[in-house]
Amino acid sequence: MRALDRLDEIAAIGQYRRGYSPEEDAAHALAAVWMREAGLETHVDSAGNLHGRRGNARVWSGSHLDSVPTAGRFDGVLGVISAIEAAERLPGAPLGVVAFRAEETGPLGSRRVDELPEAFVEVHIEQGPVLEGLGEPLGIVTGVAGQARGSVTFEGRADHAGTTPMDARADALVEAARFVLHVHQCARDAAVATVGAVEVEPNAVNVVPARVTVSVDARAPTADWLAALVAAIGFEPSSLVQPVGFSGAPLEALREMLPGAPELVSGAGHDAMVLASAGVPTAMLFVRSLNGGVSHHPDELSSEDDIARGIDALTSVLGRLALP
Ligand SMILES: [Zn+2]
Repeated sequence: MRALDRLDEIAAIGQYRRGYSPEEDAAHALAAVWMREAGLETHVDSAGNLHGRRGNARVWSGSHLDSVPTAGRFDGVLGVISAIEAAERLPGAPLGVVAFRAEETGPLGSRRVDELPEAFVEVHIEQGPVLEGLGEPLGIVTGVAGQARGSVTFEGRADHAGTTPMDARADALVEAARFVLHVHQCARDAAVATVGAVEVEPNAVNVVPARVTVSVDARAPTADWLAALVAAIGFEPSSLVQPVGFSGAPLEALREMLPGAPELVSGAGHDAMVLASAGVPTAMLFVRSLNGGVSHHPDELSSEDDIARGIDALTSVLGRLALP
């Protein structure tokens, strides 16, 4: 299958293709060749995003070719390759295929496009276990969860770990540990909350911890839900990204082409989120991730059958949107 060969060709450039690095440049150069073979005219915009166009392209599809240091083969790349395949199968359709720059370190490129389409559809691997759990190859993404980040500091008192009785301690790490469990219990259903980083002072085996700072990352599908989650956890976010709901013709077309497909909210940010935030009617199609949904890891996997279904569905949706 050509799409799988192309995934391998991009991966062979290097596992880590940081945004605006020579490795990302090489991936864009390869994709430009494939775009031209698919009958698209290529150009690069002022942010370095690669565009392949045919005719008056008001409908775009694509994703990103940069990657994280521990990346697998599918994240981002599948969306670009699927869009090229779909464009080739729709030779009469005015379409745009785009490879955005530096998604993993921003998104940077999709925030700086010179112009916006009238509709955007992104194919992406799920990067989670939901579709695998449901036994479903494809899922329709209805939006991207909002995200609040911050940190909480617990103050205690440094004391000798051998001579200070247990009832005479002010142990900041014990307080922080209770908070970690509290954060974990606050999130349920489609909301998630994580303490992923802990700083302990003085961080010595024989000293009662005096000061502990923990990170909080909380995400929820709606603004109200996110606000309630932040309040329940009890922290002051230092950064807040509001949820984005997808809507309009691309979402309607996906629902028509895939009746009964499960609908999901993405917990991760994507280029599609940026375009939707800019007012572009946008939708995303998730392809089932195998191996428990592992991502940003070499074990990242989607099957040939599922990828073929994803490309078929994308082709139908783009045809519906771009052809009169
Ligand atoms: Zn991605």
